[in-house]
Amino acid sequence: MVESFRQKHERYFQIEGIDSPNKQVFAGFSTRHGGCSHSPFQSLNLGLHVNDETDKVIENRKRLAESIGTTLDQWIFADQVHDKEVQEVSKMDRGKGSISYNTGIMGTDGLYTKDPNTVLALGYADCVPIYFISKSHSIIGVVHAGWKGTVSGIAQEMISKWEKNEHVPASDIEAWIGPSIQQCCYEVDERVISHVEAILPEGSSKPYTQKSEGKYMLNLQMLNKQLLLQSGIREEHIHVTDHCTSCGVEDFFSHRKENGSTGRMLAFIMMKE
Ligand SMILES: [Zn+2]
Repeated sequence: MVESFRQKHERYFQIEGIDSPNKQVFAGFSTRHGGCSHSPFQSLNLGLHVNDETDKVIENRKRLAESIGTTLDQWIFADQVHDKEVQEVSKMDRGKGSISYNTGIMGTDGLYTKDPNTVLALGYADCVPIYFISKSHSIIGVVHAGWKGTVSGIAQEMISKWEKNEHVPASDIEAWIGPSIQQCCYEVDERVISHVEAILPEGSSKPYTQKSEGKYMLNLQMLNKQLLLQSGIREEHIHVTDHCTSCGVEDFFSHRKENGSTGRMLAFIMMKE
């Protein structure tokens, strides 16, 4: 598959091919470069809840916002809890969570909007970002899918909200699975695999391999793709990156690789008017 996530700036990878015919869409994933935070957050830490200095995180967020031609008060952040809550936001919500964690959209791991010039942003350090767009309906969204969010059904939740509330058929939705920890580096135990088995669509091949007694290497990208297909998204509308945040720790923050003490990257998406 063609790699859609291309590094276009020291601060971000950008998704190629996400533009719709009538609206320009800007979506990407930040790197750890071009910020002002010190170790272990060097340097572009964008998470306010990881014990980095708040002023530095805000400065880093401003730099990223500027890099993509926006200002931070156009951005909307969420308080992420590894669950399946998806919320619609609008231009009225711009700025929420941008300079303080507690003003973000509470208890939600998925955001979507129909408003242009409104940037949706979620934080990551190994979990899977999934970007959604319906080009015909001018609607965009993003979810945070670690193993918990994935097995809770966060991706299906986004699709079902668009179908029910926005009258967007799944066949009109396109999805990009972004940089995250990949099977090469993602060891999990029996407990995680039992949750995976419980939601694995019938007839799907196993998205994991056994490494040793009770140890497995999980392919969360493959599992999410299987769940997207089950929800009715067309195979040709699903794009999966090859970037692994753990193998790529020079460019990305990795919770696993750095033993939990690290910064956060952002997945971001907006329609431009
Ligand atoms: Zn890896």
